[in-house]
Amino acid sequence: MPDRAPQPVDRQLPTDEARDLISLVRDIAQREIVPSAAEEEDAGRFPREVFTLLSDSGLLGLPYDAEFGGGEQPYEVYLQVLEELAAARLTVGLGVSVHTLASYALATYGTKEQQAEHLPAMLGGGLLGAYCLSEPASGSDAASLRTKAVRDDGGTARSSEAESGGDWVITGTKAWITHGGIADFCTVMARTGEDGPRGITAFLVPGDAEGLSAAVPEKKMGLKGSPTAQVHLDGVRVPDARRIGDEGQGFAIALSALESGRLGIAACAIGVAQAALDEAVSYAAERRQFGKPIADFQGLRFMLADMATQIEAGRALYLAAARLRDAGLPFAKQAAMAKLHCTDTAMRVTTDAVQVLGGYGYTADFPAERYMREAKVLQIVEGTNQIQRMVIARHLAGPEER
Ligand SMILES: Cc1cc2nc3c(=O)[nH]c(=O)nc-3n(C[C@H](O)[C@H](O)[C@H](O)COP(=O)(O)OP(=O)(O)OC[C@H]3O[C@@H](n4cnc5c(N)ncnc54)[C@H](O)[C@@H]3O)c2cc1C
Repeated sequence: MPDRAPQPVDRQLPTDEARDLISLVRDIAQREIVPSAAEEEDAGRFPREVFTLLSDSGLLGLPYDAEFGGGEQPYEVYLQVLEELAAARLTVGLGVSVHTLASYALATYGTKEQQAEHLPAMLGGGLLGAYCLSEPASGSDAASLRTKAVRDDGGTARSSEAESGGDWVITGTKAWITHGGIADFCTVMARTGEDGPRGITAFLVPGDAEGLSAAVPEKKMGLKGSPTAQVHLDGVRVPDARRIGDEGQGFAIALSALESGRLGIAACAIGVAQAALDEAVSYAAERRQFGKPIADFQGLRFMLADMATQIEAGRALYLAAARLRDAGLPFAKQAAMAKLHCTDTAMRVTTDAVQVLGGYGYTADFPAERYMREAKVLQIVEGTNQIQRMVIARHLAGPEER
């Protein structure tokens, strides 16, 4: 009888170093992540020790420059690492993606002095980041955010980091923040000027800053191990040395970060979909009905074939976008397409995986139902799939008339 156990994904990787990296990640995933994933997701436990291990292993700053502690890997390699982590547990894959997103502003727009001071700890010193853009009243319309940062040059309680630029005092509420309440640093977009996108500035705020607090995490449908919480900033004082980029440049920085971040979500989605397919293939080989394995019924064989084909197409799409990025070419349209296609694929494939498992697929005894609940959130975060379609259409047909 042929061996029907799922084989590891055959990856096209550019270097031996990248192949070693994937082996390392598979090893960590099998030893440290997979065995406790179901139980911890059920209990809503965040695996902080796994992030410490990933940081110690050089896996929390993969796409950034080696000068400040990054792994200097191309995006096509970083994303395949993310895919492997997300297949093991989405809380980990998405967590690494969000940490990378939170580090982006400083790594890309910070001054050399800022980068030298903060990046080594962010990229390899065990710190965990949060990206704070959304607010209770501004999600898709992120440019309407209301959190305010006001200059305070005459304050007596200046931070020791303050330079001639004085301090900023930040007040407002951020919503839906991944790692809210546990992050060591927060990249916060706040209004420093006029209404709209041009009045927003980015700041690097310490997670333990006075006046910063987090609400009780949201009770979510899935991804329960990853805390998602409102973050309140109540007169949080930061020195001007923690402003990233120019005043008014924050929204452009936030969007630029999301362009790359969307590729991370696409890779995570393919990881979840692959895990669901592997589960479905294994189950179909074992489960017997009408005297033979259900994998022998054409109705299921075609379903598995469609699932696998959609996954391969998604992987090829996110890698094509990543390779454009690695070549220094524009990739925003392809990143939006990859996010849209890969997350819709994850939703379809995980739903089909539940179907392949029949009644057992609907129980928590198998991971298929968890994958299905996890896939849903990927159609929502970092720009809903409606917003991705708007981005793609803008590239095709220009901006909408107001
Ligand atoms: C688990 C989780 C983690 C998250 N993590 C973070 C994080 O770390 N940092 C962060 O800043 N944010 C985070 N978010 C927020 C996420 O980015 C927002 O939920 C998302 O951008 C949508 O915003 P909203 O929820 O306010 O929905 P809304 O913007 O209110 O949208 C509601 C519906 O209307 C649709 N819609 C809105 N505008 C249009 C339009 N112009 N055309 C067509 N349809 C439209 C949307 O697609 C959606 O279906 C997270 C969210 C979740 C659920």
